[in-house]
Amino acid sequence: MDTVYGKYENSKNPTERILIECNVKSLPVDIFLIANKYEINIMRNKDAGAILGGKLGATLFCNGKPIIVYDDKLDTETKLITIAHEVGHIVLGHPLKDGMLARTFSLTDPRIEKAANIFAQRLLAPFPVLLGLGLRTAEEIASTCSIPIDIARDRAKKIESYGKNSYIQFSPIEKNVYEQFRGFVESRAG
Ligand SMILES: [Zn+2]
Repeated sequence: MDTVYGKYENSKNPTERILIECNVKSLPVDIFLIANKYEINIMRNKDAGAILGGKLGATLFCNGKPIIVYDDKLDTETKLITIAHEVGHIVLGHPLKDGMLARTFSLTDPRIEKAANIFAQRLLAPFPVLLGLGLRTAEEIASTCSIPIDIARDRAKKIESYGKNSYIQFSPIEKNVYEQFRGFVESRAG
């Protein structure tokens, strides 16, 4: 399959790599730009004619090309995190199963769902940027990143656990992400 499927299957820091590769410089992260860069189509369930069966979103592979389908009725924050979650399944190369119309992901392993959730959080709410902006509360994180409040709460807890001198503990790639967002961070300061 000659697509982005599995591109970051074995790499460390997949979300940082993607933010850098797609030259993302501001929050909220433009998940549509990222999907476009990797030739992932995004469609509303209504337009795709797919049946999600109570799920928020799903990925179909048609002729080897990934198409993310999301529920039309989702609010913006849930829509963005759902699409990011599906991008995670794709780039992390999660196992596929054969469906009647197209291939979708085999979701019997809860570790796969967890991995996609963590990927989505890290992509849409990158730590170096949150810390650079001085965001601390779930409400601040939710509104700046345009993510659901329950996910922002997890991010806020993690920031709390980092302590005050977190920037110096960052890995080189996290520092690169911060540098890329520096203009945005500085424009929001004061
Ligand atoms: Zn999933």
